[in-house]
Amino acid sequence: MSWTLPLAERVRNLKPSPTLAVDTKAKTLKAQGVDIINLSAGEPDFDTPEHIKEAAIKAIRDGFTKYTPVGGIPELKEAIAAKIEQDYKLTYRSEQIMVSTGGKQVLYNVAQAILDPGDEVIIPVPYWVSYPAMVELAGGKVRFLPSDPDKNFALDLMALGSMLTSGTKAIILNSPSNPTGAVYSRDDLKTVADLAVEHNFVVITDDIYDQIRFGNEGPENIASVAPEAQDHVVVVNGVSKTYAMTGWRIGYLAGPKAVVKAATKIQSQSTSNPNSIAQKATLAALTGPQDGVLKMKQAFFERKNYIMERLRAIPGISCVEPKGAFYVFPDLSSYYGKEASGQKINDSLDMADYLLEKAQIAGVPGVAFGDNRFMRFSYATDLSIIQEGMDRLSAALSNLK
Ligand code: PMP
Ligand code: GLU
Repeated sequence: MSWTLPLAERVRNLKPSPTLAVDTKAKTLKAQGVDIINLSAGEPDFDTPEHIKEAAIKAIRDGFTKYTPVGGIPELKEAIAAKIEQDYKLTYRSEQIMVSTGGKQVLYNVAQAILDPGDEVIIPVPYWVSYPAMVELAGGKVRFLPSDPDKNFALDLMALGSMLTSGTKAIILNSPSNPTGAVYSRDDLKTVADLAVEHNFVVITDDIYDQIRFGNEGPENIASVAPEAQDHVVVVNGVSKTYAMTGWRIGYLAGPKAVVKAATKIQSQSTSNPNSIAQKATLAALTGPQDGVLKMKQAFFERKNYIMERLRAIPGISCVEPKGAFYVFPDLSSYYGKEASGQKINDSLDMADYLLEKAQIAGVPGVAFGDNRFMRFSYATDLSIIQEGMDRLSAALSNLK
């Protein structure tokens, strides 16, 4: 008789990351020869800049291939602190920095480090797919804070104020946002900082897209806008998006010493240090020439303008103009209830399936980000691919009756 190995309760309700799932499906179809337009992946199409790759090659040649301190090599922590000082005018000492295997691991470790069962974490909707899962894996309770596309997905401060309870432990902010590209205003950040100080909760600011902003303002986060709240803020960042280094897996945390110590302890019992070679590459990324970052940002800006122009020309679509990151999040719900060749579209999952099967466009259904009206398309890909994708989208939608 066969035996079914019993899995843990916590994993039974856990869904795999939908962004990675769609991307894997699209890449698999492409490898099988299907002509897929992949607008699902949240990863820059650019190659990692040459000087960063060279630093990694040198690290290997120099034999820098052993365990490092769990929270990262001292010179990298110093470079991270210097970069934060330069960009945000905020001072962090070395013991307030931890380097991890991607921003994702930072967020996971922070959730494990600060949440007790039942602690409430406020997550603005639409949210990045992994936030609720990470909170729940740590035993926390997610409280969703809706936002309105007609207000550019701004934080609803009235609703936030009324959601705070004695159990509120943290809020997770992501500005520029994945999936909307929205950027929170300084005034709103200031208000959240005041609330955090008054009610003693933690603000986790996921700054992973902070260098990819299309306005004139430089990088900024809640701690740079309200430095008096710095000890309530946990900064999460990394090199995946800014330096086209998704596969290298380096992210970092800057925050109160106690949180860093706790998150590092968790890291010491789970993954140990992040990859030694990737740490050297990250050092080169942060301290070397930054012209590659500007070039990529300019390309994302041009692609954003192009894809917005195309979306505006498709009847029945509304889309908030992104102010950063590399995603558009159009509302396609006016097509729900319609059908083509017997296939009825009821929600964003149906829409994503329809576009993949009938038009070979891969996008991520909005339900994965907490709102079924939308779909997310990434424009971190070549203009010619975006062009073909928009041609196909427009044709596929016009076939729905
Ligand atoms: N936060 C957001 C909002 C993201 O989109 C990503 C992309 N995967 C991450 C964090 C984590 O990125 P990484 O682990 O590659 O640093
Ligand atoms: N953050 C990217 C995205 O949202 C990469 C995938 C992931 O880590 O979930 O598409």
